Amino acid sequence: MKNSLNQNFNQNNQKTLNWEQIQEDFKIKFGKEVFESWLKKMDLIETNTNFLLISVPTRFIRDWITSRYLDTVIEVIKSHNKNINRIEFKINTLSNEIDKSEQSLDKEESNVTFIKDSFIQYNRIDPNKNFENFVVGPSNSLAYEASKKITDNISSYNPLYLYSGVGMGKTHLLNAIGINLKANKKVMFISAERFMYHFVKSIKSNEMIKFKDYFRNTDVLLIDDIQFMNGKEALQEEFFHTFSALLEKGSQIVLTADRPPSKLTRIQERIRSRFSGGLVVDIQNPDFNLRFEIIKNKMSELNLRNNNQVGISEEIQKFICSEIKTSVRELVGALNRVVSFSRIYNRIPNLSETRIILKDLLNIHENKVTIDNIQTIVCKYFKISKNEMLSSRRSRYLVRPRQTAIYLAKMLTSKSLPEIGRNFSNRDHTTVIHSVKTIEKLKKEDNELNIKIDSLKNKILYNKEDEI
Ligand code: ADP
Ligand code: MG
Repeated sequence: MKNSLNQNFNQNNQKTLNWEQIQEDFKIKFGKEVFESWLKKMDLIETNTNFLLISVPTRFIRDWITSRYLDTVIEVIKSHNKNINRIEFKINTLSNEIDKSEQSLDKEESNVTFIKDSFIQYNRIDPNKNFENFVVGPSNSLAYEASKKITDNISSYNPLYLYSGVGMGKTHLLNAIGINLKANKKVMFISAERFMYHFVKSIKSNEMIKFKDYFRNTDVLLIDDIQFMNGKEALQEEFFHTFSALLEKGSQIVLTADRPPSKLTRIQERIRSRFSGGLVVDIQNPDFNLRFEIIKNKMSELNLRNNNQVGISEEIQKFICSEIKTSVRELVGALNRVVSFSRIYNRIPNLSETRIILKDLLNIHENKVTIDNIQTIVCKYFKISKNEMLSSRRSRYLVRPRQTAIYLAKMLTSKSLPEIGRNFSNRDHTTVIHSVKTIEKLKKEDNELNIKIDSLKNKILYNKEDEI
C-alpha cells in the first residue's frame, strides 16, 4: 500500500490534484465498504496552496469522516501533494436535502428539480410494510379493515384517522395503503414533521406555489404523526387549506396520531372537527395471542431470509410475548435482539440469558421476583408447606417441587448458584446445578411438566393465573 502512495508522492507535487486517483487510493486504503459508504461522498471543489475544499452531502457524513478517517485521508492526499495539510468541508445543501434522513433506502434520484427531489426522497414507501404481513387481532382489526376498505373504494371514509400509542402499526398501515394505491393513483406519503420542514423551506426559498401545487395535486395524502402540528399555528393554517382543497376535489386523506382528535388540544378547533369528520379508529394494545402471532410471523420471515437458520425456542418466543406487552415495535425489537445474540454467539440463548439480553425492556418485573416469592408460589401450587420445601426430607412429593423452585430461581432471578443454595436451607451449589439439570431434562420429556412450569412462571412474574 505504502508503495503506491510513495509512487504518487514524487510525481504529484503540482497545483491540480488527480481526484480520481486519490479516490482509488482511498478505496485501497480503507476498503471498498468504507469507501462506498463514506469517502466516495466527498467531492473536490477547490485546491488551495495548503488546503482542499471538499464538499460532502451532509453534516453527519462530514462528522463521521472527520472523527474516524481524517488523519488517513490527509495522509493519502499528502502523498499526492505534500503541501496539503488541512481539509475544509462544505456541506453541499443541494444533496443535503436528499440524504438528511440517512436511511439509504434508495440512492440515485437526482436530476429532478430541487424541490421535487426532496419531496421524492421523503415519499418513501417501504415495500416491507404491507397488508400481507400485518397481523390482525381484536386490537387492530378495525384499523386494518378500514385501511383495506380505502384501497378498495377510495373516499369511503374521508379522512380516515388512525390513532394509538407508539409502535402499534399506524405507520405500517399507512404504508400498506400507499403500496396498494400507488400503482393507479398519485400518492403522497409524508410525516407531519417533514411536511413542516418542506413548508418552512418553501417559504424561505419563495417556492410556496410549488409547495401548494405539489401537495394539492395528489389523489391520496397519507400524513403520519399529525400531533406534530400541535401548537404550530402557521403550519396548521397551511395544512388546513391543503386539506380542504383535497377533500373538495375528492382526494383521499389518511392521518395518524398518537391521540384522538379531541386530545389535540393545541390544534385549531375547525381542523380538529374536520379530522373527526370521517372515520376515527384506534389501535389498542395487542393481546397475548396477537403478540405471539406477530412473533411467529416474524420468525418465519427471518427464517425465509436466513435458510431456516433462526431457531429461537418456543419457550423464549412465549417469554418475549408475555414480557413485552405494550408496543409491537418493542416486541419485534426484542426478538431481533435475541436473534442477533444467537447469530453472534452461534447458539440459542436460554431463558436466563434472554432475561439479560432484554434486561432494559424487562426491568419493570425484575425487582419483584424474589426467591422467597418463588418458594411461596411453588409451595402453594404443589400444596406443600414452606417448611417441608426447605427441610432435608427427600420424599418424592417434596423433591420435585423443591427442584422446580430451585430451577425457577435460577431462571427468573439473577442470583448466583451459591446464593440460591443458601436460600434453600444452605444447600450446596452442586445441588442447585443438579436440580436445574433434572428439571431441564424432565421438561424435554414431559409436556405436562412444561405446562406446569409455564403456568408457575406466569404466576411468579405477573401474579396472573394461566395466560399462556
Ligand atoms: P406506529 O406508527 O404506530 O408507531 P409502526 O407502524 O411503526 O408503529 O410499527 C412498529 C413496528 O411494528 C413496525 O416494524 C411494524 O411493521 C410492526 N408492526 C406493528 N403492528 C404490526 C402488526 N399488526 N403486524 C405486523 N407487524 C406490526
Ligand atoms: Mg409511526
